[in-house]
Amino acid sequence: MGERDKRGRVWAATAVCPCCEGRPSEIGCLHCHGQGITDDVAGWEPHELEELPRPKAVMPGRCGDCATRFGSPEEEGGDPACRDLTRPFFCHWGGGFREVEGRYVPVAQMPDGTPVGALVCAGWWNYLTGRQHDDDRGYQEPGEQRAGAEGDVPR
Ligand SMILES: [Zn+2]
Repeated sequence: MGERDKRGRVWAATAVCPCCEGRPSEIGCLHCHGQGITDDVAGWEPHELEELPRPKAVMPGRCGDCATRFGSPEEEGGDPACRDLTRPFFCHWGGGFREVEGRYVPVAQMPDGTPVGALVCAGWWNYLTGRQHDDDRGYQEPGEQRAGAEGDVPR
């Protein structure tokens, strides 16, 4: 993740703390501040890290029409919500939304508008945690048959 500004954004641990191995001392490890899990893994090799699984409230993968895919209406329209790391971005297909005249309206929401019970977008989660997308295929309208590799657009 480098040293980019993390203040104000959603915090997500990516690994068991490699320093204290998830057994924080009473004083608290400087990497994880006593939590035992951390996103502060710069300088560690992948084989030295015990990666944390993606939470169940995150979609298992990006939808074909995921807003984070190249060529999506959100990307083309400059809608930054799918890359806003200060608040979760929810998958329209992950339950918890009702389509009303082309808009996706949360069935239940927090006072700040955060949907309750909807799954978080896998593409957004990848941005948050600095992980690679499982595939780089471009946006595809729901119900359209993918033509094959020629339709795939590298990011
Ligand atoms: Zn630690």
